[in-house]
Amino acid sequence: MKTQARVVVIGGGAIGVAVLYHLAKYGWQDVVLVEKHELTSGSTWMAAGNCSFFHSNYYCTRVNMKSIEIYQKLEAETGQDPGWHTTGSIRTADNPDRMDELGYMYSMNRCLGLNVEWVTPAEMAQLHPMMNVEGLQGGLYWPDDGDVDPSGITQAMASGAKKYGAEIYQHNQVTGLTQKTNGEWIVHTQKGDITCDWVVNAGGLWAPQVGAMAELDIPSIAGEHTHILFEAIDAVVERDTMLPLIRDPDRSIYVRQEMDSLILGLYENKVKQWYPDGVPWEYAQSELQPDIDHVADYIEHGIHRFPIMGESGFKHVTVGPITYTPNGNPLVGPAYPLKGYFLACGYSFGITQAGGIGHYIAGWMMNGEPEIDLWSVDSRRYGSYANWAYNHEKIEDTYPRLYSIIYPNEWRDAARPNRTSPIYEYQKEAGAAFGDYYGWECPNYFTAEKSDLSETPSWRRNNAFPHVAAECNHVMNKVGLLDLTRFAKTKISGSGAEAWLNKLTCQKVPLTDGRIALCPMLDHKGAFKSDMTITRDRDGQYFCVTASVGKRHDQHWLILNLPADGSVQLEDMTYKMGCFVIAGPQARDLLAKVAYADVSDAAFAFGTCREFFIGRVKCRVNRLNYVGELGFEIFHPIESQISLFKTLMQAGAEFDLKMFGMYAMESMRLEKGYLAWKAEMNVHHTPLETNIDWTVKWDKDYIGKQSLEKVRADGVALKLAGMVVDTEDSDPWGYNPIFKGKEQVGMTSSGGYGHRVGKSIALGYVKPELAEPGTRLEVEVLGQKLPAEVVAMPLYDPENARIKA
Ligand SMILES: Cc1cc2nc3c(=O)[nH]c(=O)nc-3n(C[C@H](O)[C@H](O)[C@H](O)COP(=O)(O)OP(=O)(O)OC[C@H]3O[C@@H](n4cnc5c(N)ncnc54)[C@H](O)[C@@H]3O)c2cc1C
Repeated sequence: MKTQARVVVIGGGAIGVAVLYHLAKYGWQDVVLVEKHELTSGSTWMAAGNCSFFHSNYYCTRVNMKSIEIYQKLEAETGQDPGWHTTGSIRTADNPDRMDELGYMYSMNRCLGLNVEWVTPAEMAQLHPMMNVEGLQGGLYWPDDGDVDPSGITQAMASGAKKYGAEIYQHNQVTGLTQKTNGEWIVHTQKGDITCDWVVNAGGLWAPQVGAMAELDIPSIAGEHTHILFEAIDAVVERDTMLPLIRDPDRSIYVRQEMDSLILGLYENKVKQWYPDGVPWEYAQSELQPDIDHVADYIEHGIHRFPIMGESGFKHVTVGPITYTPNGNPLVGPAYPLKGYFLACGYSFGITQAGGIGHYIAGWMMNGEPEIDLWSVDSRRYGSYANWAYNHEKIEDTYPRLYSIIYPNEWRDAARPNRTSPIYEYQKEAGAAFGDYYGWECPNYFTAEKSDLSETPSWRRNNAFPHVAAECNHVMNKVGLLDLTRFAKTKISGSGAEAWLNKLTCQKVPLTDGRIALCPMLDHKGAFKSDMTITRDRDGQYFCVTASVGKRHDQHWLILNLPADGSVQLEDMTYKMGCFVIAGPQARDLLAKVAYADVSDAAFAFGTCREFFIGRVKCRVNRLNYVGELGFEIFHPIESQISLFKTLMQAGAEFDLKMFGMYAMESMRLEKGYLAWKAEMNVHHTPLETNIDWTVKWDKDYIGKQSLEKVRADGVALKLAGMVVDTEDSDPWGYNPIFKGKEQVGMTSSGGYGHRVGKSIALGYVKPELAEPGTRLEVEVLGQKLPAEVVAMPLYDPENARIKA
């Protein structure tokens, strides 16, 4: 066994082996894997092997596509058969909402160029003659889906990895981790230590225990999953082509052909958590005790859809543990706040995703950036609130809903509330319908109608719509208050702060005290990493604000880039300061009434920050906002929030001050064409493609500049466009294909209804020549192509007269 390596992958399930294989294949030397038993000893050993393109998330679908591409080539490359069968698969719908969801999937899959078709019940019956299609309204058919042998892919990738020079040490448990002061890791194993630059936690069922070795709290718990193989079925034996996999999500079942019979898999409504406090180290390759009563209803569902199974008996009932995270997506990428530690765990559909994620993780480690935007699986999408206990409660809700309709606006109650602003009870009293953003309870909208306190989830406009309209109108005509306490805030100080920040952003960091600048941070490819608003404070200190959900992501990037000489210090201010936005034509009058300062335009210019008392609370106030009205962001000590709130609300009565929520903010930012992090700003786009290209400075050096210079020389391939879409009741949500005639020419990044302009708006990237106002295009929403016209942005107040009033 080596004692020194570049990478040590912990865990030899499908995921760990896929990472090892790709690292070795792409040229890294000295990559090793340590496995406590034999390869495939965790969940991988007993997986059903379904492998499909379907995923509700665009980028996860890309991971699945990559897996399938890899599995189909493995035999030629490694000489080992991974047991791939192309069978096709169908996802059914028995109600209109499910049809809408399939419509969304259809359109999103078309953005990816996937082979996907609508099928009628009659066509489904032809594709799978054993299926009872009664009650079905339609379905989606992916002809190229298939299944694979989970051990087969793992062993084939392992042999590929060895061929490229990687080493695998089996029957050797990792017992501890120590990080040296120089950043290297010492991986302690039963057979000795290995010192390395990188650790990859692919511990599967044991990933939380492996995480704890480096003080990480990994929210992943195993649940028991059952699938049943039936005795041979004559009608299957007689066939000479494979039957497609059927997923009937409304009955929470899947059925696929296995040799001469069918397998029924099910997701019951009550998960059986398995060793939630930690899976015993000794567990390996053994099945769990079946509990037929527990899943009996779902067996009936299966037999209803496939009556032929009712004529057969059970050949084998497999029950095995699968890991579940709070939202069912895995936990991948650099582990906050560590250096040299990658996560590749929390997989519930790890066979489908292993090949692809192995490819992308290897690229991420080697290049410093992922090739595709992996935010939906990035472990830093969760903060410290997503701990073991949170997940313990959360998966009780997540597991039974694995096949539920995924709505863009459904806010489940499970494991809430976690983080609340001090004014939470006041928000509740005012009729807030809350959403959950990075663990924070944030009002989405306010309503006096009790029945509308709970939003009806839908892909179409719903009962929130009139309330959001009222809030936008109110902000446009009077003044509103928005609670953005959850903003991520970082104080940056030290003698090296200015130079260091200038290295991290393409914008020039403000040099004058009190100036604010929009400062995108870029990756080495020149694409968006983060979007910071930086204010220069006294004494060369900086106050940086970023999206709440990006807190760990952004702060991790700062930590990883800190200079070694100690000349820069970071202080997380997120939980010490709240933030209210007051916006609307009367915002200044309101502020003037409560501020111990001159807040006139002459004294308090747009784009600047000042500190003064509002009532009894010393606040730092930014004169800017994200909704495009005259407005102010008021940062304040969290412990004084209620005092400040009361001051504002009492003084605001004269101006009819009302609170507004996230949905109104989103609607208004779309009208202004303001970019959103991870929608318009992600790893696929540079600022040069967008309307904030003015933030790119060419006369200074920074991360990503070289790549940007090349983009500038070559010309951008895509350009951000604002479009008005002609639709009745279904606005674009993002990931909608954009067409010019028959040709797909782009994809939306976000969309929604602009209440102040009374139009359905999409933002999206298209070929530059099509980004000209007046260009007629089509945007596909829920499977329907809708007329759209490119418009000059911003649609609302193009002169910025209101925000600069
Ligand atoms: C019944 C069942 C059916 C399933 N069906 C499907 C399906 O159809 N399609 C699909 O995509 N997915 C399916 N899955 C899920 C899939 O099996 C998992 O998502 C996948 O196998 C996870 O792989 P992994 O490598 O992350 O983890 P694991 O397979 O759990 O592997 C982790 C490995 O790490 C090793 N390890 C842990 N700690 C240490 C340590 N300290 N030192 C050394 N080694 C360590 C373990 O021994 C183990 O071998 C199914 C799972 C089950 C149980």
